Amino acid sequence: MLLTPHTFVGAALGASIPNPVIAVPLSIAMHFVGDIVPHWDFYSHTTKEERLRGWRPVAVMADLAIGVAVGLIPTLYALWVLNNPNMAVNIFLCGIGSVLPDALEAPYIFMNKDKGFLHWLARFQSKMQYQAALPWGLISQVVVILVSLVVLLNSIR
Ligand SMILES: [Zn+2]
Repeated sequence: MLLTPHTFVGAALGASIPNPVIAVPLSIAMHFVGDIVPHWDFYSHTTKEERLRGWRPVAVMADLAIGVAVGLIPTLYALWVLNNPNMAVNIFLCGIGSVLPDALEAPYIFMNKDKGFLHWLARFQSKMQYQAALPWGLISQVVVILVSLVVLLNSIR
């Protein structure tokens, strides 16, 4: 799944579950659940060479930038508008947790290692990815974003 819907899920969890001891591990777990949702992403049906060249790394960076904004906007809103630093920290940590498995995997894509925790994580994640062709592979993610947005907007007040 793209990073943007992952961060929407994280922000929604951070805003709706006040206890970070529950919310942060849950947002990490929900990353894997998100990848089970049939989706299309920039790496769908690509070779390792295709992943490293051309437009795909640029698209990943753009997705990452949007994802960071999705995490930071409610964080800053909770901090500055709601004066709720606990919620702000919680949303921030859940936003990081929601993309942590992919963030850990990113350096692995650029390395050529075939053992260790990152290798295991990358293998595990690629097995847990369920691909869907366009447009369904994007529609599923739009639904994830909309549901998360409803939860987020209802919680952050
Ligand atoms: Zn993932």
